[in-house]
Amino acid sequence: MPQQSSLKELVEKGESQTVEFKKSLSLQRKGLKALCAMVNSDMARGTVIFGIEADRTVCGIEQGNLDTAQRSLSQTIRNKFDPQLVVQMEVGELNGKQVLVLSAERDRSIPYHEYDGRAWIREGTENCILGLTEKQHLTRRRDRDSHPGPWRCDRCGTWFGVLHSFEISSEGMKKTYKCGCGGEFWPAT
Ligand SMILES: [Zn+2]
Repeated sequence: MPQQSSLKELVEKGESQTVEFKKSLSLQRKGLKALCAMVNSDMARGTVIFGIEADRTVCGIEQGNLDTAQRSLSQTIRNKFDPQLVVQMEVGELNGKQVLVLSAERDRSIPYHEYDGRAWIREGTENCILGLTEKQHLTRRRDRDSHPGPWRCDRCGTWFGVLHSFEISSEGMKKTYKCGCGGEFWPAT
């Protein structure tokens, strides 16, 4: 169960790169697409809250069928995510109304998850479908993060045995592959 204060804060902050609201459990498919899109982004995590309207109004989820809804969601999550995605499901309470919170994180060794045969990615609060070229690029870029090298610049051809450049972003320390020439380093083999 999420802490009352943190759930309240989460809702007050509104939808974002890592948070989406769905007013009704009948929007299960859309909610799971959004979750897929959020874990596939560079932040690699996402939260979908059912029972909240897009404008942050707490409407609560439909009463009476919570168990059925949770079972149906669990089954859909097991069947439709490829590779499998571990999703935490919790019932929370806000303003005396019940909300259902789904949250998930992508293991960084998995380039992306597909939901129902399609890979989604989040751009701001929009969920977009990844095309084949984008999927290949994403896989290549994410495989690069765990590659030991050596490296070669795709523009000037400079070789490096080991890359030691890091940049600080909102996500913390991140490897950077930028070459001084404006090109990027990629595994040389
Ligand atoms: Zn270069």
